[in-house]
Amino acid sequence: MPLIAGQCPVCGAQEGFVSDGGGHRDGLLCCACGSLPRERAFLRALELLCPGWRGLDLHECAPAGRALSRRLAAECPGYVPSQLFRDIPRGSTAAGPRCEDLEALTFPDASLDLHCHLDVMEHVNRPDRAMAEMARTLRPGGLVLFTTPVHAHLATSRRRAILFPDGVEHLAPPEIHGNPVDPAGALVTFHYGQDLPDLIRAWVPAFEVLRLELLDARAGILGAHRDVFALRLQEGGPWAG
Ligand SMILES: [Zn+2]
Repeated sequence: MPLIAGQCPVCGAQEGFVSDGGGHRDGLLCCACGSLPRERAFLRALELLCPGWRGLDLHECAPAGRALSRRLAAECPGYVPSQLFRDIPRGSTAAGPRCEDLEALTFPDASLDLHCHLDVMEHVNRPDRAMAEMARTLRPGGLVLFTTPVHAHLATSRRRAILFPDGVEHLAPPEIHGNPVDPAGALVTFHYGQDLPDLIRAWVPAFEVLRLELLDARAGILGAHRDVFALRLQEGGPWAG
């Protein structure tokens, strides 16, 4: 397989990236740590926008157990991972990671500096509620940093499925992604389009929204779906503090 030279932002290795010859969505793995392009783009954005992250109270929703999450956990004493377990109470750490539902968090108001998640938002049932919960639990000036696929050909986002307590209504053929805590996978509820920043601003007017599309071949940040979204909870003005 072709090898692309470069240095991995996640692990620092200079062993390059193995291309799968496709769109690099789930390919172009770091030869040393196995990181994906979106993980490298995420870490680059984190260092750019929040260089003091190691000293913050950082919640990562649904970490995939890969090199990026291990690094966040190792370097940030205030790191709190969470997963959504259906069979234990929210807020419990009985299963290891704290059990949290992004649409109904148990963290107190204004108790965190940073919410992070990679490819979670396309699986939530009520993204408006998830955004409101992240805003509620952030301190003023706090940040949400996340990746989610944006479908370039879609001007407006499309819901693909609605989750109900007793089942699912499919509005489009089911699309399933891997889920680290459920072998059945995670159903895609939304295909987000170019309107995602506007949707977020409508859901939470206090969020200042940045969409970063990083491109850096030498860092293995290539291919489709490289977007990183940064939402700053305003305190006194856009991007203040
Ligand atoms: Zn690496």
